[in-house]
Amino acid sequence: MAAINETHDPALRSWVESANDPATDFPIQNLPFGVFSRAGGEPRVGVAIGDQILDVTACLEANLLESDAAFAAAEACRSTTLNALMAADRLSVSGLRLELSRLLRDEESGGPGARATAAVLVPMAEARMHVPADIGDYTDFYASIDHATNIGKMFRPDNPLLPNYRHVPIGYHGRASSIVASGASVRRPLGQTKPADAETPVFGPTKLLDYEAEVGFFVAGGNRRGEPIPIARAEDHIFGFCLVNDWSARDIQAWEYQPLGPFLAKNFATTVSPWVVTAEALAPFRVPARARGADEPAPLPYLFSPGNEEEGGLALTLDVLLLTERMRAESAEPFRVSRGSLADMYWTPAQMLAHHASNGCNLRPGDLLASGTVSGSSEDSRGCLMERTSRGANPVALPNGEERRFLQDGDEVVMRGCCRRIGFVTIGFGECRGIVEPAVERSH
Ligand code: MN
Repeated sequence: MAAINETHDPALRSWVESANDPATDFPIQNLPFGVFSRAGGEPRVGVAIGDQILDVTACLEANLLESDAAFAAAEACRSTTLNALMAADRLSVSGLRLELSRLLRDEESGGPGARATAAVLVPMAEARMHVPADIGDYTDFYASIDHATNIGKMFRPDNPLLPNYRHVPIGYHGRASSIVASGASVRRPLGQTKPADAETPVFGPTKLLDYEAEVGFFVAGGNRRGEPIPIARAEDHIFGFCLVNDWSARDIQAWEYQPLGPFLAKNFATTVSPWVVTAEALAPFRVPARARGADEPAPLPYLFSPGNEEEGGLALTLDVLLLTERMRAESAEPFRVSRGSLADMYWTPAQMLAHHASNGCNLRPGDLLASGTVSGSSEDSRGCLMERTSRGANPVALPNGEERRFLQDGDEVVMRGCCRRIGFVTIGFGECRGIVEPAVERSH
């Protein structure tokens, strides 16, 4: 587990003024990595600071980095993806974070001030963000017991939670090719569904399009095939975290999910927030794993470690907001539909990762693992519409009088996340957003 150090000091301020705004997601204590490009330019690795991006390669070329450790990680940033940085030695990545923190501090915080460094900043407003890694494999878990119970009730009223749930972190292999960065639109998928009153299935646009609010984490160093990752070492294999929208077509899902699980109901698009908040930046926000009740089984030994029990959880608050086409026309603000916390999950990221590799499956730097829908026990903490509206029975009322059971064309889903703790500076994840476009026109 990453330690708290001088980079987390709440007294630090940056000479990048926007980074000192209490409302920013990207204060100097955060320093997430991402991949950006400017008009006509190649993608480059950058670090978010306020409303600016620090170009890491430009720092290297301007001789702004001193330590060998920082230098090695910065060399790994000479790339159009974060994969090499994710694969780099953790001490080196940590060394780079420390040097970038020192470079960005204002003079009162012991930093150099703007001097040479201002030349290596790019305004976020002039940059386009990309999917941060070349994601070889994507796996989606199902780590919220509240979500699993609520969804299970709709499919199996008498038997909502399957007997394996409290023993095994359930997941499925998702698809990497359709992962897109925040801002990309998502076309309503076509698919096969079987209406309840129909004898035979039909093919056409999904009528029950949904989002799932999730937290993703990227694999740092991988493991060799055949060599599991012990739970006590699992945190060392997590580079950092982002927000994930696992777009889901519930009618397609209901018809296809048995016996092998989700397939075309989910693989048409997955949106990620472009900034990867490092595990080190999140050190102050670790919390105990969710407590097991007296009637619940202890995790099997390969999923149990004292360190994971003490601080395997993460106090990350995840909001979902909706902005309909009409709301946009009325210049309304996005409306918050739910607020959940990753701390409520039944399984921790380390348990998910250790479980994934427990059979010898090799994980690779840049692989994306996602938590599954982040839901808590209260109605307004439910992280998808299927759950939030009880499959459409209780629609969400929007401030302008519209209501939503499922997503309509033109709806924009906006996810935001942040970590707060008294005595530390709040850090955010930026946005994970996407607009639903109408289904493709079909010629019969
Ligand atoms: Mn999911």
